[in-house]
Amino acid sequence: MCGIVGFTGRQSAAPVLLEGLKKLEYRGYDSAGIAVMDGKSITVNKVRGRIANLCEKTKDGAKVPGTTGIGHTRWATHGAPTEENAHPHLSNDGRFAIVHNGIIENYLSLREELTQDGYHFLSETDTEVIVHLLEMYYRGNVRDALIKTANRLRGSYALGVICSEEPGKIYAVREASPLILGVGIDENFFASDVTALVNHTRNVIYLEDGEFAELSDTSIRIFDCSGQEIHKKATRVLWDVQAAEKGGYEHFMLKEIMEQPGAVKATLAPRMKEHGVEFEELTGLLPKLPSIRKILITACGSAYYAGCAGKYALEHLARIPVEVELASELRYSDPLIDESTLLIVISQSGETADTIAAMKECKARGAKTLAIVNVVGSSVATLADFAVYTWAGPEIAVATTKGYTTQVTVLYMLALYFADHLNRIGEEKARLQEALQAMPRRIQESIDMNANIPALARKYHKAKALFFIGRNTDYAVALEGALKMKEISYLHAEAYAAGELKHGTIALIEEHQPVIALCANPSIMEKTLSNMVEVKSRGAEVLALTFRNNQKILSVADDLLFMPEVDPLFSAVMEIVPLQLLAYYVARENGCDIDKPKNLAKSVTVE
Ligand code: GLU
Repeated sequence: MCGIVGFTGRQSAAPVLLEGLKKLEYRGYDSAGIAVMDGKSITVNKVRGRIANLCEKTKDGAKVPGTTGIGHTRWATHGAPTEENAHPHLSNDGRFAIVHNGIIENYLSLREELTQDGYHFLSETDTEVIVHLLEMYYRGNVRDALIKTANRLRGSYALGVICSEEPGKIYAVREASPLILGVGIDENFFASDVTALVNHTRNVIYLEDGEFAELSDTSIRIFDCSGQEIHKKATRVLWDVQAAEKGGYEHFMLKEIMEQPGAVKATLAPRMKEHGVEFEELTGLLPKLPSIRKILITACGSAYYAGCAGKYALEHLARIPVEVELASELRYSDPLIDESTLLIVISQSGETADTIAAMKECKARGAKTLAIVNVVGSSVATLADFAVYTWAGPEIAVATTKGYTTQVTVLYMLALYFADHLNRIGEEKARLQEALQAMPRRIQESIDMNANIPALARKYHKAKALFFIGRNTDYAVALEGALKMKEISYLHAEAYAAGELKHGTIALIEEHQPVIALCANPSIMEKTLSNMVEVKSRGAEVLALTFRNNQKILSVADDLLFMPEVDPLFSAVMEIVPLQLLAYYVARENGCDIDKPKNLAKSVTVE
């Protein structure tokens, strides 16, 4: 998920690798390492924490001889961010060193098999199975061993490999994780993105899924997964370095919005099995499930709104009462909690101070705790009885997007999982399971349907205030939509349960006041429609978010945002996307610092 680099050439490899890793720092990481080959053997240096520590340890690479090597910044997914778990990993015979970005989904069964065959594991990572497979399959030809190894792997991987038997060569493999080759003169490279390459070369070859590359200082050969050689042309990168970090997008936030189909897929993949949703990490909770009388969700900011969105599915499917409380309130509220309460805490960073405090308070009162968290080994993950990771990958923009959608996705899966294990779901199950599986595709549709958002942003960006209204599941999404708008565009934005308008807020409606009406829940849409008419007759301009063929809404609204027609129980993940895009383009019109909004921090580690 984070970064890999590889170098082969005539100059000393370690300084080139360290410099490349520094360029990848922006992607977020928790540990780093390099492996360099000096013609005979491989030397590995790894550290926990910053690349600066690695530079210090290796005297900026001067202590590490050799002209061929690979480097890695790790963003832990399997195993805590320790030096042992940092990459590169070595084979038991010391012949191979590898770096890996991504997740090996079938690592547990491979680990068992390899252990039985006598291989020793030195880390808790999923990655380590790869290097032992390589050793097992190696019969004098690295390429053959790589093909056999890759055939055994399920999941996502960008791999960098060196072998002491082949000095001067570096190998790269790509499957659902980015990897680019850099073409130099008497030197060649690979890296997760072009930022790590542009100081050396702008001629790059994009590897596709299932492709392998074998690089020496003077040659690059590419093969498909059957070992057949293929020929690919280099393209010239014209982006500047800053644009390259953002994958060509103007801001990390936009990049992360666009990454959501992939991020949600990564959240779903390890849990969606043919027979239903399975959470390996929750088997210990299952026996206690029937005794749970209440689910209490606690979090801050967008994670709290993720809880609000997930509540409907949890209650409707699992038939357990759900309360959602702000962590900063819960911690001081003398909460009514006991052993029959399941506390679900949600935090992207896993370091949110209020959330940690609320969790400790509830734990002390006997609640079982389940954390939904993105950062592996973070405080929330460690403190909880059960940690469910969202696998969203690092999120750089301060305003969360894929963090939120993956959290909601976990709550949806939990709803189905609990309902199934409590025997509270019947024939709905297959349909709902399919709806979950379809979410990555549906999110992409939400992105593709809204090409007019930049134009809408030009129309609305000068508004003094924006009101978001909706009912039920639409209301939960309105809360997050308004927060996104506030955070990055600095516009005053408020979300109201549409039925509450007439109890006060409607006094604020005047000529040209924009009202964003969320209409993705057919069971309650007629009611929201009445509210749209009410505000319109007081001069408001209504921007409705709904399905393409929803004639009633289309005929009343002044402007439209679209989303695909999906089950309202699971709609938040698709419905939020146009609102994220609207906030983004409004902020852009207003010239705001989108990735680093004023006064905000990514991880709020103070009360
Ligand atoms: N899954 C691997 C690990 O936890 C790689 C993580 C990454 O992409 O940095 O070590």
